[in-house]
Amino acid sequence: MYSAKITIHLSSNKIRMSKNNLKFNSKTIHGGQQPDKAYGAVMPPIYQTSTYAQSSPGGHKGFEYSRSANPTRTALENSLASIENGNYGLAFGSGLAAIDAVIKLLNPGDEVVSTNDLYGGSYRLFKKIFEKYGITFHFIGMENAASIEDYINSKTKLIWIETPTNPMMNIIDITAVSKLAKKHSVLLAVDNTFATPYLQTPLDLGADIVMHSATKYLGGHSDVVVGALVVKDKELADELYFIQNASGAVCGPMDSFLVLRGIKTLHVRMQRHCENGKAIANFLLNHPKVEKVYWPGFKNHPNYEIAKSQMKDFGGMISFIPKGSSYEDAIKIVEKLKVFTLAESLGGVESLAGHPASMTHASIPKEEREKSGVVDALIRLSVGIEDQEDLIEDLKQAIT
Ligand SMILES: *Cc1c(COP(=O)(O)O)cnc(C)c1O
Repeated sequence: MYSAKITIHLSSNKIRMSKNNLKFNSKTIHGGQQPDKAYGAVMPPIYQTSTYAQSSPGGHKGFEYSRSANPTRTALENSLASIENGNYGLAFGSGLAAIDAVIKLLNPGDEVVSTNDLYGGSYRLFKKIFEKYGITFHFIGMENAASIEDYINSKTKLIWIETPTNPMMNIIDITAVSKLAKKHSVLLAVDNTFATPYLQTPLDLGADIVMHSATKYLGGHSDVVVGALVVKDKELADELYFIQNASGAVCGPMDSFLVLRGIKTLHVRMQRHCENGKAIANFLLNHPKVEKVYWPGFKNHPNYEIAKSQMKDFGGMISFIPKGSSYEDAIKIVEKLKVFTLAESLGGVESLAGHPASMTHASIPKEEREKSGVVDALIRLSVGIEDQEDLIEDLKQAIT
């Protein structure tokens, strides 16, 4: 059971090899894919089955039980590996399930260094679940990569970063952090949910593990909850696959299909997210009733040069603080928005607005939150792919 999946991956590696020289836009559509073996279906069928007929015990076609492997999920996993320039993809029931699997590589007594401006759910998983099992987490500012070294000791096994960070849009220098990680033989995992491989491919910059909440941009249509990991190294893939199968937080065939379909338009959507993001960031910057705007594409962003060098563009995620800077000022604005929907999540075709302090980051204590800049008045926008003019009009009528 353990080796079956890896064999599938290795055989599909050949398919990837033949399509390896494709550029990114082509890989979103073809990477790791082949027409279905049964009837040549161009889209992988939704193999809605838990089990597979065997001719004699162990005599199967590479699939025996859908927790271990399912052809639709394998198709997604191969696509993920291809677009992130990795060798192995693993798909999970949610982004948090994917993070959970990575932390399960560790043992009691091990330490993790992570950023203080982290997705709230990741912070909660680390603090409220894994600290109980004797793993220690350090949450630190990482805008200057060298400062990480102070927190690395003989017990450190993993550095966990997000860039751009959520919701403060800080940029972490992946290449610099990966050099530190290698120097100290520590694994580096990058949550690439915000950037997506359209903007940056952390494995190429030296990271060991790339993680996604595929719920967001990869799925892209706000209709599914899925998580993903991609790695290059076979031994690491084996260990993660063992955890995926042993703990069982896999994603189902229908959800795998939806993310596969989403990935095929990732590059086109991202291009528009970036164009709209830029227009809205500049609109907010010039608005007299806006106090502060956080977006990595501004030349005065503290890590603009790093963003420019490691990302292809600057994305569609923006945070801002309205003038007045009170909880009520922010609430009034998000309630007035009509084209932007007030909702958790991000990365879908539709524009969303969120209030981190009361929504995505409510699980982080107020003092912790405010230390990293997530103040009560902060509003986060996930800029969608609607017409720019409609989005700007909507913000105009809401920010008064
Ligand atoms: C949403 C999100 C997650 C968690 O993913 P789920 O699919 O909701 O479990 C992790 N990291 C980031 C940056 C996210 O935005």
